[in-house]
Amino acid sequence: MRALITGGAGFIGSHLAEYLLDKGFEVSVIDNLSTGRKRNIAHLFSNDNFEFFQTTIMNEPVIEDLISRSDVVYHLAAAVGVKLIIDKPVETIETNIRGTENVLKFANKAHKKVLIASTSEVYGKQPHDKLKETDNRQYGPTTAHRWSYASSKAIDEFLALAYYKQYRLPVIIARFFNTVGPRQVGTYGMVLPTFVQQALKNEPITIYGDGKQSRSFTYVGDSIRAITKLMETDAAIGEVFNIGNDKEITIEELAQRVKKLADSSSEIVYIPYDEAYESGFEDMQRRRPNNSKIRKMIGYEPTKMIDEIILSIIDYYNNL
Ligand code: UDP
Repeated sequence: MRALITGGAGFIGSHLAEYLLDKGFEVSVIDNLSTGRKRNIAHLFSNDNFEFFQTTIMNEPVIEDLISRSDVVYHLAAAVGVKLIIDKPVETIETNIRGTENVLKFANKAHKKVLIASTSEVYGKQPHDKLKETDNRQYGPTTAHRWSYASSKAIDEFLALAYYKQYRLPVIIARFFNTVGPRQVGTYGMVLPTFVQQALKNEPITIYGDGKQSRSFTYVGDSIRAITKLMETDAAIGEVFNIGNDKEITIEELAQRVKKLADSSSEIVYIPYDEAYESGFEDMQRRRPNNSKIRKMIGYEPTKMIDEIILSIIDYYNNL
């Protein structure tokens, strides 16, 4: 079996590549190294079952050839990270929509099973707890750029489901909730690697807003187990799944846990959203998954909780 991973040099993609190689798959990775890094996959190059192509998913001849040679496709390539989305709004929309269009078009031509990586951002600013796959979406105006990310990923979901409906293309949609673990970088705004690096350098830990907003952090290994199991499950085809951990923590508590576990003398500081992102930035107060659907489908339960996750990231940065 050959798996193609778009965005396979990224944080999640590189863990997926490693996992599939361990399971005996042949793995092709395509990545333009915009946010992915060669360092994430450097240890895989010596494996005969691994191949890497440094190019964009807009490169139609390459993506067509790679899909036709693969049995399954994990489409993870995307513009991600709130900071990147605000700094490069055009690339965000184009990469996320056109890239997915290409992958689906060629997957359909060769009739290959595709998992589309989506995001919990798709729910938008839903105020209620335990988000369900069938919940309504609620976004701000088009003048607030952060919503372009959620909208672009929602279009990806619509398109994938349309291919399933119209052509019976086997697709599965995975909505990732704040996935964290070793290899994730803070460059594009992600909170946990940012806090860990700040704590290890004894620099101020920067909480945006009042820190009362909460998130549900999911260990990357748990997410990988979930999506690979879904890919083996026929009943998952044509369906959307939350990929998350339903334990939640406020950002303020997260800063305190990181400081303690890193044995750091960092000061904890509060930065207004306008300063951290852009004027008028709207944050999500809470974002927690309802895991009933995936639990019922594949018996999924997250295994790693926040302290263990933080320690794994501290360990990663200490050993770089
Ligand atoms: N955040 C923070 N300090 C940072 C980076 C992020 O307080 O240095 C906050 C951010 O405003 C959000 C939460 O941490 O409330 C999670 O941010 P991240 O970008 O990791 O993911 P999001 O859930 O926003 O996609």
